[in-house]
Amino acid sequence: ESISQLIDRLAAVVPDYPEPGISFKDLTPVFADAQGFKRIVDAIVDPFRGTFDVIAGLEARGFILASAAAYATGTGMLTIRKKGKLPRETFAESYQLEYGEATLEVHCDDVPTGTRVLILDDVLATGGTLGASTKLVERAGGIVVGIGVVLELEDLGGRGRLSGRHVHSLSAV
Ligand code: IMP
Repeated sequence: ESISQLIDRLAAVVPDYPEPGISFKDLTPVFADAQGFKRIVDAIVDPFRGTFDVIAGLEARGFILASAAAYATGTGMLTIRKKGKLPRETFAESYQLEYGEATLEVHCDDVPTGTRVLILDDVLATGGTLGASTKLVERAGGIVVGIGVVLELEDLGGRGRLSGRHVHSLSAV
């Protein structure tokens, strides 16, 4: 079974969530499966092995991937959080959501200048979240070596918003 077949088999599709007309892809069954979790964590870092110093995870599902991947590859993990959660001085980056705006933050001193950062999240949709995260890591002094996601929703054009970046998705719909 290929990795994309495995994701397709285990992921749940939830119609009309969180709003009517949206088809939500729920990857929690992939995380909950012993073989599934190990395979996605290994596969998401594979193309980037040897190129990063730290793995950044986006709150909240990106944390699941980034912490496991950091442990598996013997690196540290960088937390990119929603506004107001980090206790010390932060850089902040706001971006547009379909309705309204969101802000992500990172601690100023968590990214020493020149640190090579791999950013992970579960799903790439419009690319707003990962776009803001790359800006944030760079403002903090890091170098974004790549972006890894489990699932890419191709119709939403997120990859186009991340042009010039090495974006690796394990599966696409
Ligand atoms: P974007 O900013 O539009 O690319 O949205 C990506 C963010 O929203 C990620 O942090 C995802 O966790 C979340 N997201 C968007 N659509 C889905 C989905 O269908 N399933 C799970 N998460 C989603």
